[in-house]
Amino acid sequence: MENRRPLIAGNWKMYKTCSEAVETAGQLAKLVATATDIDIMIAPPFTALAPVADVIKGTRVALGAQNLFWETEGAFTGEISPAMLVSTGCKYVIIGHSERRQHFGEIDNTVNKKIQAAIQHNLIPILCVGETEKERESNETFSVLDRQVKKGLEVFSENDLKTLIIAYEPVWAIGTGKTATKDQAQEAHRFLRTLLEKSFSGTFSESTRILYGGSVKPNNISELMAMPDIDGALVGGASLDAKTFSEIIHF
Ligand code: PEP
Repeated sequence: MENRRPLIAGNWKMYKTCSEAVETAGQLAKLVATATDIDIMIAPPFTALAPVADVIKGTRVALGAQNLFWETEGAFTGEISPAMLVSTGCKYVIIGHSERRQHFGEIDNTVNKKIQAAIQHNLIPILCVGETEKERESNETFSVLDRQVKKGLEVFSENDLKTLIIAYEPVWAIGTGKTATKDQAQEAHRFLRTLLEKSFSGTFSESTRILYGGSVKPNNISELMAMPDIDGALVGGASLDAKTFSEIIHF
């Protein structure tokens, strides 16, 4: 399970101007200088990627993007290509976040194309999956996860996906202050790991990192991280403040 090094990733969503992002990233890099046994990533808005890359160069903090477009280049107004992300120093890219599915028409098929583009450009894809409150209430959690993972990863081989990270983010827990209990999260993570085993192999499933996301805070990270199938966290709101995020990282 060598690959399952914990990862704590911060999704800054549409928050922070360039100067604000640079300030927070600089503070964070100092606060986590001693966190050597964990991977750390921040995903600022596109406009702040390049200046943040400069500030975190040579530190424990890696750079990620919140989205990409799958084409290499062309007349796609408003979109950002994988090569553009790589050129700013991005190592990771978040794909299929529920806010993109909810507000920007992201579907499993486009998620699949984005994962392919990320892999082709050596970006580490973080595939976000998760059920809505209504789906959980009607006992559809597992069928939703099954569909999102199978369709999102359709056509890929285990070798294509060797860097893949999955983030289980129940939509009802994102930005709401409602965290899934550690047992609810563990149950979904176990389901996802078993799904990877059935779709690929035991070795693949055991080496793939699965993050939990949904109102992770300094006071709930430890119990989540103690669960056997939780390998890290994707953090939204609580990643915007360097001190709070560093407390999560030093859980
Ligand atoms: C997220 O944006 O992926 C997220 C989990 O947000 P929050 O931590 O604010 O719930």
